[in-house]
Amino acid sequence: MTLAERLPKIFHPWPAVSGLLPTMSLNLNAHFTQLENFGHSLKAPAYRISIKTTEEIYEAFQLARKLELKVTARGTGISYNDASLNGGGIVLDMTGMDQIQEWDSASGLVRCEAGVTLEQLWQKVEPDGWWPPVVSGTMKTTLGGCLAANIHGKNNFQVGPIGEHVIEFTAITPTGALVTCSPKKNEDLFYSMISGLGMLGVFTSITLKMKRIHSGLISVDARPVPNLSRHLSDLCEDAPNYDYIVGWLDTFARGKSLGRGQIHAARNLKEGEDPHPQQTLQLAYQHLPDRLLGVMPKSVLHYFMNPFVNNLGWRGVNFAKYLTALRKHTFKQSHAEFHFLLDYVPDWERSFGRGGLIQYQSFVPKETAEAAWREILLLSQRRKLPSYLGVTKRHRPDDFLLTHGVDGFSLAMDFKVTDRNRKPLSAMLQEFDKIILAAGGRFYFAKNSETSAETAQRFLGYETITKFKRLKQRCDPDNLLESDLYRRLFK
Ligand SMILES: Cc1cc2nc3c(=O)[nH]c(=O)nc-3n(C[C@H](O)[C@H](O)[C@H](O)COP(=O)(O)OP(=O)(O)OC[C@H]3O[C@@H](n4cnc5c(N)ncnc54)[C@H](O)[C@@H]3O)c2cc1C
Repeated sequence: MTLAERLPKIFHPWPAVSGLLPTMSLNLNAHFTQLENFGHSLKAPAYRISIKTTEEIYEAFQLARKLELKVTARGTGISYNDASLNGGGIVLDMTGMDQIQEWDSASGLVRCEAGVTLEQLWQKVEPDGWWPPVVSGTMKTTLGGCLAANIHGKNNFQVGPIGEHVIEFTAITPTGALVTCSPKKNEDLFYSMISGLGMLGVFTSITLKMKRIHSGLISVDARPVPNLSRHLSDLCEDAPNYDYIVGWLDTFARGKSLGRGQIHAARNLKEGEDPHPQQTLQLAYQHLPDRLLGVMPKSVLHYFMNPFVNNLGWRGVNFAKYLTALRKHTFKQSHAEFHFLLDYVPDWERSFGRGGLIQYQSFVPKETAEAAWREILLLSQRRKLPSYLGVTKRHRPDDFLLTHGVDGFSLAMDFKVTDRNRKPLSAMLQEFDKIILAAGGRFYFAKNSETSAETAQRFLGYETITKFKRLKQRCDPDNLLESDLYRRLFK
């Protein structure tokens, strides 16, 4: 029997929720709804409860216990995979906890509720000459989601993941304990709740240290790289001289050109370098550009993207992009433009059609990355299951429990999902996993949807998984917190 067939019976008691919990002071606003991942390739029906306060989270735990349902926290819900899906359970919509509680523009310390987005955050601090220390490629993510996944930015090799910039956070565990953690206080929980995918507790409040900037502009050096070997060696050699580095990789290129692309290496302007910082630091200056990949005008993009989102179309887009990338040049752009490329076209992921898209991101040590990625790029070309977009970054290891960090590189690949390719694509990504494991690589739990429990065990290791499970037993003895991802990887 499918989950959908079982639902009416399982959820029959739901309309009586308030009657079941007469002592509850708060009125939980819940409705049954179909939730999806960012790429619209995975769907899971769940009870969504809109959360405004920490007390409501506690009440939702009580409710879940009574109804024998599992609970998952959800921020914006734009992980590429099933991290914030919980088929048949309760999903806590944290976006209502969206207050910036304290901002000190002298010290750069900010305290926020967990549902505050990166967009809210940078717009608050940037006019005062600060920028979030680590951001994802979209500004739509919440801080709770960012800590749970322990996101990395294009500056991972310099400053580590976002967790390294957290001064303190408060979280509520299913036992009802409100814990405050910092690198010195409840240290074990600090290093495991950050990266812990919301499986040990729910973040309520987060204090972060912002990074000083002296201009609203960033200086970017763009240059082509003719093949994979140069791509990786340039990332490695250039990184120490810059604040940020990111590569675009033409996943369709073959032969001697395999792995060609373009590198964008960027640095913050020094004090005095921008003659008009008061102007460039204004929010109005941080507009997103009107062209995607330097090729397509944004205003008409949504009409035109869909027909291009197939193997032939994206081969053309990648080729055109490489031609525009051939010119080595330096330019300045706003912080928002540089960091949030993927927000240029709202809802761009919908252009992938009914089956949606998934992302496969692998993190591989610098010594083995070239051979491993050569193998997976060739495999995807042989199978005629090409990735439409390839993005590379430089990384370093970190101390968080479920870390994806390595002293090496990451390659993120976006795949279109269709009814026809779903099975062979899944099978191919399992083969990718074997290649990446053999190369000593790791995987990111906010991205990959095909990683198996066996793969997770192999790259995390027995000791790490045992430690995670022991902490889970302490914070969540009844296993109330579960997501589709948790069931896929840890059960
Ligand atoms: C276009 C795009 C670009 C991206 N670029 C990057 C990138 O450059 N670097 C990078 O690292 N990631 C990147 N990501 C991934 C993204 O940053 C993570 O998936 C992030 O977790 C999403 O935030 P969210 O608020 O949508 O969280 P959700 O998807 O809602 O949840 C993610 C995880 O966080 C947990 N969670 C959410 N809120 C809480 C809370 N309050 N307490 C405890 N747990 C919670 C959920 O249970 C789940 O496990 C990108 C995603 C997209 C769509």
